[in-house]
Amino acid sequence: MPSPRTPLVAGNWKMNTTVPEGMEKAHELVAGARPADVEVAVLPPFTHLWPLCGILHAGGILLGAQDVFWEDAGAYTGEVSPLALAGWCDYVLVGHSERRHLLGETDEQVHRKLVRSLAHELRVIVAVGETLDEREAGATLDVVHRQLDVAFGGVDVGALSRCVVAYEPVWAIGTGRTASPQQAEEVCGAIRLRLETLFTPAVARATRILYGGSVTADNAAELFAQRDIDGGLVGGVSLKPVEFLQVVAAAAATGVGS
Ligand code: PEP
Repeated sequence: MPSPRTPLVAGNWKMNTTVPEGMEKAHELVAGARPADVEVAVLPPFTHLWPLCGILHAGGILLGAQDVFWEDAGAYTGEVSPLALAGWCDYVLVGHSERRHLLGETDEQVHRKLVRSLAHELRVIVAVGETLDEREAGATLDVVHRQLDVAFGGVDVGALSRCVVAYEPVWAIGTGRTASPQQAEEVCGAIRLRLETLFTPAVARATRILYGGSVTADNAAELFAQRDIDGGLVGGVSLKPVEFLQVVAAAAATGVGS
């Protein structure tokens, strides 16, 4: 396990690449130079998880699923169980805004996915973030607090070492409009305070909080240098191995730590 707040850069490939293309990118990633003090994870489509597992793990890169269901088995056509991922897939992502806003996923469903994944010892990235309308209405922290409160309600404090929070303002995802380092830090700092209220100050200090939303090789270093930002959840750029590895390099030695 990484020490508390080892920087993490996770690449969310979304619904992109065929399996052979994904394998090629995975080989490129493991062949590239990476700092030893940054944890790297790749979240390809479900179809790619098993074919990429050996390639990525052999190269020291972790594997993550972009979503998961809240039951272990049953009549849930098209869903993927946390039980089926446990033991070989390292991370699952829950609450991505594309699932919340395009597919109507609720805070309660995000909570159930988190709980079931933790029960199977998976590490979970919980994504939260406000829409542009919510930001302009001054509701950013209300929204983020609500998403955190519901997602983490009743979660055992001992499981927090396997949780990561990703702050992803919806207006910054895939738009090329990145939050400024100050805007990102303001919300990530508020997330840490909320974790303190929900759990304990020590747990809040030890939990990794990522920023996501149009992260590039050009803006990553300044974002990751913020006190409460421990790396990034990267979409578009994660499909470009060379630039993604530059983002990973930017997360090295950014001074995080509990
Ligand atoms: C994402 O999908 O989580 C994301 C942050 O995308 P992008 O980096 O393309 O904005």
